[in-house]
Amino acid sequence: MAAQAARRQELESHLFPWAPATHHQQPCAWLLRLGLHGVGPWQRECPCGGGGGPGAAPWGEHAPLLRQLLPPGGPPQTHISRDELKQRLGGWLGLPAGQAPCLTSRAATAAPPPADWAAYYRLRGLPLDSPAALLLDAALTTYAAVLRLQQQQLVAQLPEAQRRQAASPAAGQPLAWGGEAGRRPEAPPQPRRLVIHLLGPQRELDGWPLLLELGCLLPQQQGIELHLVGPQVPAWAHGRSVRVPAPAAGTCGAAGCSCARQQPPPAAGEVPAGSQTLGFWRGAYHELAAELAQRHGAPHVVVALNAGLAAYVSWVPTLRHLAEAMQQLVPRPAAGDVTTAGHTSDSGGGSGGGGGGGGGGSSGPLVCCFTDFNEEAMHRARQLCAHVLAGCGAAAGTGPRGEQGSSGGSGSDGDGGGLCGGVDVESRMNAFRRPAAVLAADHALPSAGNGFALWLLPRGPPRGSAAPGAVLRFTSREEEGEGRLK
Ligand SMILES: [Zn+2]
Ligand SMILES: [Zn+2]
Repeated sequence: MAAQAARRQELESHLFPWAPATHHQQPCAWLLRLGLHGVGPWQRECPCGGGGGPGAAPWGEHAPLLRQLLPPGGPPQTHISRDELKQRLGGWLGLPAGQAPCLTSRAATAAPPPADWAAYYRLRGLPLDSPAALLLDAALTTYAAVLRLQQQQLVAQLPEAQRRQAASPAAGQPLAWGGEAGRRPEAPPQPRRLVIHLLGPQRELDGWPLLLELGCLLPQQQGIELHLVGPQVPAWAHGRSVRVPAPAAGTCGAAGCSCARQQPPPAAGEVPAGSQTLGFWRGAYHELAAELAQRHGAPHVVVALNAGLAAYVSWVPTLRHLAEAMQQLVPRPAAGDVTTAGHTSDSGGGSGGGGGGGGGGSSGPLVCCFTDFNEEAMHRARQLCAHVLAGCGAAAGTGPRGEQGSSGGSGSDGDGGGLCGGVDVESRMNAFRRPAAVLAADHALPSAGNGFALWLLPRGPPRGSAAPGAVLRFTSREEEGEGRLK
């Protein structure tokens, strides 16, 4: 009980001046106070706009512009410039330009990656009275998963002793490069192309333009492919995608835009930026994963937001699929150096690149992140994962490696870490949780959207020669074309 009270306090402690109101009132009341009731993406945030409840419009119905961009009979991929997109979206967020992140201007790559809302707001020039965070938890939680991937890759390069240490991040913090939030080591390795699968999207469909914030925060990626996969994706969007070029460095020039206050201001001539593609796939993930990998390569990161893993049996086959795929990344004892199943190295620079699964096997994500509303759901999700992983591990001949028992658990927060079937399982509070309480009638548990995150990380790196370079080809500028770490 005491722990729960402390957790509630932690969940409710946000730096935003408007946050307390969201914790003590029904959404309609605080949306009215913020002047956002029924406006654009906010109409999903309260019951009278339908939310996600029965009788509500299907998810994706309020997605701005998407139907126009993906008309019936149109090509499977559409391109639109960020400027045009911004212009056509107009004031869809219902916020003044100074209170919304500028989707045409990227964050400075010289700044440390933001590890929490305060750092993010500073980086993007948003004033604390902007309620934009209420709509950005999906994008920022996905961003935290990418940071985690980058940290995994750095860790994979360290000698074993250091690796164990570094694999335990500070509790409650998404990781910055090198495992120390806010500190940027020299020349972090960057993948050329980043493939992210976002499973079970709902609100994210109606707010899809907000996911383009990823391209503003990760400008150094050569290209970001974010695939939204789930049964709620509208049929008319299935198999189709929207491609948006990289955001520009510097300010967009619009009067009063938040980008003029970014810190530090992004300078022209920074690392060349890449485009971002959003793909839409309707169906169950485990049924679509093979096709997705075939066409776009294996995912580097898989994220499922407010997943309710233990609440819906439909997650079980998806989890099993992910567990099996991740375990193929784990080195098999005494099996030579079988190492990683084929992540495309994309050495040609094109995102086409051919099939993802080299060597015929499917290949798994390097980081999986499932979020949920409260600790109880997280706890049950964790049990389910352990169960599924153990089953798959036994089947694949990669039983738990007992000697490595606990991998993390550095903090008081969350359940710490554990190893199961060669995959690390960790859970902790999510720094980019939605800064509003969830009012649930049936329980009194402290809850917030994307409040807690469960991480699955293949225990790595594969020993021997074919270490992480085989998983992702690192290309800091000096090493371009050299394929280090082979
Ligand atoms: Zn309402
Ligand atoms: Zn701007």
